[in-house]
Formats: sequence, C-alpha cells, structure tokens
Amino acid sequence: MNIHEYQAKDILKKYGVQIQRGIVADTADKALNAAKELHSETGTDWYVIKAQIHAGGRGKGKIQETGSNGVVLAKSLDQVTEKAKNIIGGTLVTHQTGDEGKKVNKVLIAEDVYYPGDSEPKEFYLSILLDRAKSCNVIMASTEGGMDIEEVAEKTPEKIVKEWIDPAVGLQGFQARKIAFALGLEGNAFKEMVKFIYALYKAYEATDSSMFEINPVLKTSDNKILAVDAKVNLDDNALFRHKDLAELRDLSEEDPAEVEAGRSGLSYVKLDGNVGCMVNGAGLAMATMDIIKLSGGEPANFLDVGGGANAETVEAGFRIILKDPNVKAILINIFGGIVRCDRVANGVVEAYKKIGNIDIPIIVRLQGTNAEEGARIIEESGLKVSSAILLKDAATKVKEVLS
Ligand code: GDP
Ligand code: MN
Repeated sequence: MNIHEYQAKDILKKYGVQIQRGIVADTADKALNAAKELHSETGTDWYVIKAQIHAGGRGKGKIQETGSNGVVLAKSLDQVTEKAKNIIGGTLVTHQTGDEGKKVNKVLIAEDVYYPGDSEPKEFYLSILLDRAKSCNVIMASTEGGMDIEEVAEKTPEKIVKEWIDPAVGLQGFQARKIAFALGLEGNAFKEMVKFIYALYKAYEATDSSMFEINPVLKTSDNKILAVDAKVNLDDNALFRHKDLAELRDLSEEDPAEVEAGRSGLSYVKLDGNVGCMVNGAGLAMATMDIIKLSGGEPANFLDVGGGANAETVEAGFRIILKDPNVKAILINIFGGIVRCDRVANGVVEAYKKIGNIDIPIIVRLQGTNAEEGARIIEESGLKVSSAILLKDAATKVKEVLS
C-alpha cells in the first residue's frame, strides 16, 4: 500500500528520522495558516508547496489547468496563498502518472530547507527495500540525489552503493558508517548521516514496509541531514498488524474497480485488452490470459474469484468486468474442485439475469466436479452464454466471437 509524502514523514519523525517540517492543507486558506504556523515554529520566511499525490516526479510535473509545477517555492505568505490556489484541485501530470494525471486534493506546506544563499546544499539518494533474490533487505545510497534513480542506475551504476542487511543481526554500525563514507561525508554530517540511516532502518522494520525511498536526503550547509521527500510502501500482507497504518489508505488514489473488487474479496487488476476473464485461482488466471492471447485477443483484466466461487462472487465479478468499455467478450474459466460446476453455472445464470442487458458474448468453461451438469445448465438457460468443457474449445469460441 502506498501512502502520501506527509503521512510518510509523520512515520519517519516518530522513529527519530530528521525531516523537513511541514503541515498538510486542503484549501488555500489552510495553506496560509499552515505557513504562519511554520513561521512561528521554525522562523522560516520561505516555504515549499508540495502537491500530495501517489506519484513521484512532482517537481518537474505540471498542473494541467494552471501550468504550475507540483512542487514550488513561495517567498512570502501572499505567494503561499496564490501558489497553493494554482495547485489544489488541479490535475498533476508527471512522468509517473500517465497523461491523465492525478487530482491534487492536498498540499504539504513545508519549511524551505535550501537556505537562501546556501552555496552547498547537497542532495543524496537513500532507499531501503527487500531484495527478493537475496532474501534480505538492502540499503541503496547514491551521491546523485534529486535525480531519477533509474537514470543513475542505467548511466552511472557505480554511483549507487548497496549494503545487504543480515536479518539475524540487523543493521550493523560498520554498514551505516560505510554508506555515510561512500557519500563523501565527514565530521558532524557523517555522524548525522549514520544516525539518519539507523533511524530510517528502524522505521522500515517496525512498520513492516516493503520500500522506503528518500530522494532527496539533504545535507544543509550547517550539516543537518534531512528527509526532504519520502516515499513509503507498506506491505499489504502485514497491515493486519498495523491498524493505525492501514487507516492511512487513500482510496481516491486507487483504481475504483480494484477497490470494489477488494470489497467483494476478489483480486482484480485492470489491463488494457478486450476480453474480460473471471477465473478461480491465480495460476489458472495466468493460464487463461495466455489462452486469450493465443486466440488473438488481449486480456482486459486479471480476476481471481478465489476458491469458493458462488453466485455473489460471480455477480460481483461480472459487474466489475462490465464497467470496462473495452470489453468485447467475457471468458469464465472455473475449475470445480472445492466448488461444484453446477453451482457455478447456476450462479452465472442467476447473475446474468439479475444484471440484465448484457450485450456481449460470454463463454463459460467449467471443468471438474459436475462439469457436464454445469454445461447443461448453461446451454439450457437460453441466454447468450455458450459453454465449453475443454480449454481448447473455449479458446476457439473466444476467437469466433472476436472475429
Ligand atoms: P518529487 O519531484 O515528486 O520527487 O518531489 P520532491 O519532494 O523530491 O521535490 C522535488 C524537488 O523540489 C527537490 O529535488 C528539491 O530540488 C526541491 N525542493 C524540495 N524542498 C525544497 C526546499 O525546501 N527548498 C527548495 N528551494 N527546493 C526544494
Ligand atoms: Mn523526490
């Protein structure tokens, strides 16, 4: 699960990671109040206004309606009001959002930590993530902060250093020092960076995160080390242990169909093709998507209804797939192991009648327990649904309806 920068920074602060201070606001008036509050807390006269969306590249991204960037500097309170107005409610397009962009509901008003006239602020890159190949966490660091790390990895991979953390002993002192050294730091800045890395790793572990990316980490000319940006990805499978973190979810950032599917206990991923599919079991879903491709179609989605497919789940699946205007046919591919095929067939017929006005062909392939009976129910229903028992037949039927 992704969260916003302001939420991520709250978490970091809780674990003692030094951050660029900020206050979140959803109107220009509140943005102004936030700036005033920051001024009285920190004495800052300059502020950065940062669009809060679940995507990076905001600094270079543009608000469609106003042309403002997604991260801007304001040098007075008047500018805070004016510039916040150009961001809040707008649609921000960055290289990570796609052309349609993302609606900005909130901004983070932060203190300017790149002090005016500061000749040597230095931006670093720091991230922690799970290295699946090595089965342990890895800390990645680079002197090339503020830039697109993919580009650094491609053009100058030697500028990224990595430290793998042994899960049995955790982050070791020498590892944090090695990273700080590789970043070219010395004196106080070196010590601050070691502390920063320690606190960051503690936060990462305590929150069961799967990724932390702090880009940039800033070294100010007075040797403070601060998280200026924060991208945090929490492990969905561990959220049951973190009720407080689960509440940070922002549904407006997620695909509405995927949210609805989650509510019905289905796992759904929208894709760009023209054949909707409804399948029980992730492996069978993958195989079904292959079959669709081999038949000349493109899967419109991945949808796993799970082991206990029944009339309700089938109906929920239908409704979700039918919302996608690209869908020209639906292939239902259910293996009756635990669930009996005749029950699924009845579920399909029931859901079909209940939804009504389905004007695209539906091919149902039922195999396993009571497969023949299931096929008979489909054929006798008189609906625009055709059945197949062999996968080969299902593929041929998909091909027929597409041509
Ligand atoms: P991203 O573009 O979505 O990754 O957003 P960031 O939070 O990384 O901000 C983008 C850029 O804004 C940073 O790389 C900085 O160069 C700049 N920036 C962020 N905070 C400040 C600040 O306090 N003062 C100034 N002058 N620039 C800042
Ligand atoms: Mn960034």
